[in-house]
Amino acid sequence: MAIDFTLSPELEEIRDNVRDFIERVVKPGEEIIEGSNGTEPLNPKDRIGKLIEMRKEAFEEGLWLPHMPKEWGGMELGHVAMAMVQAEAAKSYYGPWVLNCQAPDEGNMHTMLHWATDEQKEKYLKPLCNGTATSCFAMTEPEVAGSDPTLIQTNAYQDGEEWVINGHKWFISNAHRANFAILIARTEDDPELPQAANTAFIIDLPSDGWTEAREIETMHGSTGHSEIVIEDLRVNDSQMLGGRGQGHLLGQYRLGPARLAHCMRWIAQAEMALDMTVERSLERYSHGSILAEKQGIQWMIADSAMELYQCKLMVLHAASKIDNGDDFKSEVSMAKHFVANSLNRIIDRAIQVHGALGYSTDTPLAHMYQHARWSRFADGADEIHQMRIAQRTIAAFKDNGSTSSATGNLPI
Ligand SMILES: Cc1cc2nc3c(=O)[nH]c(=O)nc-3n(C[C@H](O)[C@H](O)[C@H](O)COP(=O)(O)OP(=O)(O)OC[C@H]3O[C@@H](n4cnc5c(N)ncnc54)[C@H](O)[C@@H]3O)c2cc1C
Repeated sequence: MAIDFTLSPELEEIRDNVRDFIERVVKPGEEIIEGSNGTEPLNPKDRIGKLIEMRKEAFEEGLWLPHMPKEWGGMELGHVAMAMVQAEAAKSYYGPWVLNCQAPDEGNMHTMLHWATDEQKEKYLKPLCNGTATSCFAMTEPEVAGSDPTLIQTNAYQDGEEWVINGHKWFISNAHRANFAILIARTEDDPELPQAANTAFIIDLPSDGWTEAREIETMHGSTGHSEIVIEDLRVNDSQMLGGRGQGHLLGQYRLGPARLAHCMRWIAQAEMALDMTVERSLERYSHGSILAEKQGIQWMIADSAMELYQCKLMVLHAASKIDNGDDFKSEVSMAKHFVANSLNRIIDRAIQVHGALGYSTDTPLAHMYQHARWSRFADGADEIHQMRIAQRTIAAFKDNGSTSSATGNLPI
């Protein structure tokens, strides 16, 4: 299969339209929401109003649900095409939300499209696509390692046509405002495989038995990652998503493309940081020349440029594997690990070149740095991806006497 990431004229037009929309509508909207040049940030009610106003504009301009099929009101873009949309949209913090392709809704839409019954799609997927509902995905628990979902303790037992659920979740993004949750709970006591113990359920929110204990204060503030206590929560059997014992499978299905979508958004952030590094180095003067003429600064620029180039190639290649129906697990793992780490390094270099200004909140860099830190352990910690990449590399050697297939299975 030839590797060709050239965009068709139609996709190039879409990319240009997204770029223009982010510059013309979303970035100015973001400034109004956050407050800039001495203006006050909007209050929560006006903030929602402004966001919805921008969503309406995106919808009217045909920049809505880029990842969903046309029959669901989307643009039906493949993963390679999505890479360029996300890499433009995420140049503003609100861009993906305005286009309705943000986490966790984007991953939940893909999941429901694949796993939900027709009734579930009508009730939950449709409003998600219309932008009239929002959702969360509840898997991680404080008591056990989120890296190993076979340890999940939240338990569901059957009582007639209902399931009774008890447990404890945390870091559930968007739970505070979600209309429903996809919840992963343990239903099987003694499964044949440890991965077959969990089942997914759709939970209407609010529901009796689902209590938001707090929004967790993080290093980037209290931005909607909630701790949830679940006590005798009852759901009908029809709320099961996928089959009994398929919760792990569903989680893995969801996480592959969702991880890559994160990488696409991180590329946008890394590119902004590199642009800012170069811009600042062309303006700042010290010891007889501008920073851009110092070798030490050039090395930083070169390192960031090389890493960003690798990030883009890895993401595009992994995306093309998904589009072609090839096995993409290793490529997504490698991209997720590499892009997350590059993002942290590229923003760090940008802060270095900006000096005190970079440390201040006068530029977006401080905010970007705080957000970037979670990328190295959420949606699969660095070490878990390394473990899986190593396992597949060793297996490739054992099977073929060569590691070649484990390094992207490229023609060289
Ligand atoms: C901003 C943010 C948003 C999130 N949103 C959601 C959400 O919406 N829904 C949800 O369910 N969860 C969410 N999470 C949780 C996230 O998925 C977990 O943090 C992640 O899965 C890791 O689990 P853990 O935090 O329990 O870390 P642990 O599993 O305890 O791991 C901690 C560290 O131990 C090491 N480690 C673990 N296992 C191994 C191993 N086998 N080998 C070597 N080292 C290992 C790694 O260094 C790892 O970083 C979110 C987290 C953050 C920070």
